[in-house]
Amino acid sequence: MLVIGLTGGIGSGKTTVSDAFARLGVPIIDTDILARELVARGQPALNAIVEQFGPEYLDELGNLNRNQLRKLIFSDPIARQHLEAILHPRIRNELRQRLIALTDIYCIVVVPLLLETGMTDMVDRILVVDIPETLQLSRVISRDSVDETQAKRTLAAQAKRNERLAIADDIIDNSRDLIDLDQQITTLHHRYQALATEHCH
Ligand code: ATP
Repeated sequence: MLVIGLTGGIGSGKTTVSDAFARLGVPIIDTDILARELVARGQPALNAIVEQFGPEYLDELGNLNRNQLRKLIFSDPIARQHLEAILHPRIRNELRQRLIALTDIYCIVVVPLLLETGMTDMVDRILVVDIPETLQLSRVISRDSVDETQAKRTLAAQAKRNERLAIADDIIDNSRDLIDLDQQITTLHHRYQALATEHCH
């Protein structure tokens, strides 16, 4: 099957886009959701995290204290590498299994940090949702009620807009309204169906 990797910076519109593809009947696998499921209570990856970082990264119910872990990896690059060594192979493995189970001609895998995690080899084509940084900031600020400094910090920790565009096979320009967005998605959907049919033969 043809695997499309969907990526884009924070607040670029990945969820809005993947929801629209889902409405067209395209199967969606979101690697952020996979990652969350992998560290659910009692999962081996959570045990590995506790072994690596200590029991203080669990809350009183035995769930991962995501805020505390986020703070740690933002301030400590080595800790980030350790966390990635625990998570990335497991995410890849889980993704591989989900892909094998699908019978559709094409699917979309949402990988917010596609570049940063080096998961480009898991997909056949890269679709980037693109918006200018000013719009990215204003959408994130209004959606998450964060201030500009916080939003800028998150942007700074991600790959740059031009780095993402450089690896794109297809680009969605999400700087206009939702009607315009839907039209771009419908066009791409037809294109992917055609490509997937070729891909199968
Ligand atoms: P994150 O990286 O944080 O997961 P995301 O890339 O999934 O974000 P969305 O949540 O889909 O982005 O979109 C960010 C915000 O912008 C949301 O509030 C969404 O409703 C809004 N939005 C998305 N596309 C448009 C558009 N074309 N016009 C106006 N608002 C939009």
